[in-house]
Amino acid sequence: MNQAPRAASLEAKLQTLTVCPHCHVSLDWSLEELVCASCGDDFPRVAGTPLLLSSSNVFRESIITGSSRTGKKSLASRLYAMRPDERLWSKGAIQTIHSSLEWAVRRPDPTIINIGAGFEQVFEEAFKPYEPVLRVGIPHRGGVDLYGDLTALPLANSSVDLLFCSSVLEHVSAPAKAMEEIARVLRPRGRAYIEIPFIRAYHMAPHDFQRYTPAGMRVLLQSAGLNVAAEGISSGPFTALALLVRDLCVALAPRGLGVSYALSWLLQPLKHVDRLLDQREWAAACACNLFCLAEKPTTGT
Ligand SMILES: [Zn+2]
Repeated sequence: MNQAPRAASLEAKLQTLTVCPHCHVSLDWSLEELVCASCGDDFPRVAGTPLLLSSSNVFRESIITGSSRTGKKSLASRLYAMRPDERLWSKGAIQTIHSSLEWAVRRPDPTIINIGAGFEQVFEEAFKPYEPVLRVGIPHRGGVDLYGDLTALPLANSSVDLLFCSSVLEHVSAPAKAMEEIARVLRPRGRAYIEIPFIRAYHMAPHDFQRYTPAGMRVLLQSAGLNVAAEGISSGPFTALALLVRDLCVALAPRGLGVSYALSWLLQPLKHVDRLLDQREWAAACACNLFCLAEKPTTGT
């Protein structure tokens, strides 16, 4: 996605959607760098992809230098990429992901944005029939269509029908601001499918700031003016248990990566106990990850 030339229709769509992350006005795309006519800020492209991050963003420099994500993949990293999805998604979450996509594509000229999700098989398979699902963010793996910060999205007001935000909010130091941004970019009646961990080990340190309970997640959404259309478990308690055992063993083992790889396979059957529990209410009390489908009211932000 980063290297290949974009299709003209995708480029036109991106130009319509993209705004300055500071002042929310359209950008001039005619130059090599995208320029904001209001604040005068300019945003470079990295391998053709606009980098719409403020100069103070901690990830900006590493994206420009490409130091963290380029280079030939080693055998170890290829093997690691072949392991099963880290989490087992509940049937309820998968159904909500698919029904949200089916709903969005029935809207006129729909815009679907993916922030965070994408490299897991469950999302890859869900998105495939609905391309292009535009990927925006600071990717842990893979490419994006726009580099952007969830707390200062480079997307126009009321421009998005459906937004996916999976396993990102815990890595944002200002989650309330992130939810305000999601509410700003959604069209009226637009929806956001949001996943956040509840019981997970500290990960991607030091960029791991919080966990949410079901009630906490609801309050976060409602504080941004969004309604909760659906909620539930996206990965259950036995997935949480399997991942905690894996992470504890990795922390104790001298060769952490190999242990993590082996346990990804060995502990996989344990996660399937969650299939028996799925959306049972008590299981949410110790679930690995939760989901919420938020809806923007017809009046509001
Ligand atoms: Zn600006």
